[in-house]
Amino acid sequence: MNIAESETMRAMLAGEDNLVVVNSCAVTAEALRQTRQAIRRARREAPAARLVVTGCAAEIDRAAIGAMAEVDGLVANAAKLDPRAWNVPMEAPPVAPARTRAFVAVQNGCDHACTFCIIPQGRGASRSLTVAQVLGEIEVHLAAGAREVVLTGVDLTSWGHDLPDAPRLGVLVEAILAAFPALPRLRLSSVDGVEIDPLLFDLLAGEARMMPHLHLSLQHGADLILKRMKRRHLKADALDLVARLKALRPEMAIGADLIAGFPTEDDAQHAQSLAIIDELGIVHAHIFPYSPRPGTPAARMPQVPRDVARARAAELRTRAATGRAAWLAGLVGETLPVLAERGGTGYAPNYAPVALPPGTAAGTIIDVTPSGLREGLLQ
Ligand code: SF4
Repeated sequence: MNIAESETMRAMLAGEDNLVVVNSCAVTAEALRQTRQAIRRARREAPAARLVVTGCAAEIDRAAIGAMAEVDGLVANAAKLDPRAWNVPMEAPPVAPARTRAFVAVQNGCDHACTFCIIPQGRGASRSLTVAQVLGEIEVHLAAGAREVVLTGVDLTSWGHDLPDAPRLGVLVEAILAAFPALPRLRLSSVDGVEIDPLLFDLLAGEARMMPHLHLSLQHGADLILKRMKRRHLKADALDLVARLKALRPEMAIGADLIAGFPTEDDAQHAQSLAIIDELGIVHAHIFPYSPRPGTPAARMPQVPRDVARARAAELRTRAATGRAAWLAGLVGETLPVLAERGGTGYAPNYAPVALPPGTAAGTIIDVTPSGLREGLLQ
């Protein structure tokens, strides 16, 4: 989301002189710390520039960020893509054409209230781009040479609920595939598995241009903790979804977000998170130690000691790394169509990273049959 929005702001503010914009994040305490660091570094690197902060930190920690000596101004998160908020004389923000993979933010904000999450406070209520707006953005990206589109959002599967007739995400995906028959690759960023609609399921299971890569905002492997997180799914829902998908499309690669050390989590519940990594075959894992966010219900629950949360996160990462290494090793000898990016590497449809022959132009899709694996990269 922030990559897509930063690219748009960069294009929108291209004419501005001596302006530094920090597009911040506040999803964890660590993200907030890095935001402050980025602000100080930006000021050191551009002592005379006008420094403006936007993003969730500017929303959630407005007073403290605004009080920093380095900061000249704040722009509200909801307004950061509005040219008027920057006094830029244009009707709508331009689309910043990507070169190989285009991140298209089709939805913003969130109407859920997971007990650990600060995002709804930073990004507001859920709202969707219309199908026409999404197709318009993708057209610009494809004209600039993008070969893959990644649909992103804060709560992607809630796309459409605020539009007439409340279409589901499957409708949008189907419309994109129909409107752009030459688009070779369409990928979803992270989704709430339990909110995947039947049409989207069928497209994921059977449409070759839909990448066989599903990243779940899973968060935990124990039902009691999922309930205390106020998530909308239980372990069985995730197991069932993945089993049904892999039955129809065995090459489907599963990714997931997992939080370690959520308040009240005990050893047995942690063990269930370890187990779900193998049960779902998670090969793209994003694992975070729980980070208490002031103003969230979970921050008022009995906390797990920080060192325990960190140790559990490390254990989850080790488990996930083992599964990932075995998965990558299993791809050696298999011919994969890889989308080349800058830097001599690219991604296969299942998001496996692959090293490419020297001189492979970014944006081309070439067949590669890896003969080995080095440092997590198929060769
Ligand atoms: S779905 Fe939950 S975790 Fe995701 S943004 Fe909304 S409140 Fe946060």
